[in-house]
Amino acid sequence: MTLSEVKTRTGLALHEVTLTYPDGENRLTALDRVNLEVAPGEFTAVAGPSGSGKSSLLAVAATLLRPDSGQVLVDGQDAGALGPGARTALRRERLGIVFQQSNLLASLTAVEQLLVLESVRGGRVRTARRRAEELLASVGLDGAKQQRRPHQLSGGERQRVNIARALFGSPSVLLVDEPTSALDHERGAQIVDLLAEVTRTHGTATVMVTHDRDLLGRVDRVLEMQDGRLR
Ligand code: ADP
Ligand code: MG
Repeated sequence: MTLSEVKTRTGLALHEVTLTYPDGENRLTALDRVNLEVAPGEFTAVAGPSGSGKSSLLAVAATLLRPDSGQVLVDGQDAGALGPGARTALRRERLGIVFQQSNLLASLTAVEQLLVLESVRGGRVRTARRRAEELLASVGLDGAKQQRRPHQLSGGERQRVNIARALFGSPSVLLVDEPTSALDHERGAQIVDLLAEVTRTHGTATVMVTHDRDLLGRVDRVLEMQDGRLR
């Protein structure tokens, strides 16, 4: 696929992406000419061992790290061609990110974790609260749980809050890093099923990275990452 063909696609596309990190005198190649296309409504898993470059792939796709070379396109927009302000706006408006380290705020209830994003965006609080409550209910958190703080929720429930929060801005691309690593098999499977469901209902181009091979039967497509290369 050529770059000009990739630019006509919605969803997420990475074209010949290479990323290196400083490594003493040398550079460590974390991503090696990675190509990836994920269409709206498609749930793709990237599997690979620890250190293979999965989190780096998501950081580049999330426009949080700029690749050494290659392009990241979100709904056909080349993130590398945007200035910092426009790139931040692109991230806020089109990307939903669930990080490996849960970054819920300890003092906020589940519903407030979503609303705090809206106050950053300067929206209307009452409409936003309705939407936050509906989203949390749709990921399986009832009204009582919506009023709890992170320490009053289980690991699986916190992961549901993370997913609802990532969906709050109506993203077209959903990026999820190792969502099951802190969960037992059954709860991990429930989270992957939830991601499959939200991919269908919200139409997101979803990428989940994982080293957990037991859950890969539940996704549309599995790609393998090894030493920074994607197959
Ligand atoms: P994974 O998520 O598959 O475990 P990562 O993307 O975190 O892999 O890491 C890929 C490689 O890049 C590893 O060798 C890791 O040590 C290295 N790496 C990751 N982040 C950094 C960084 N900020 N600086 C230097 N090296 C890094
Ligand atoms: Mg990782």
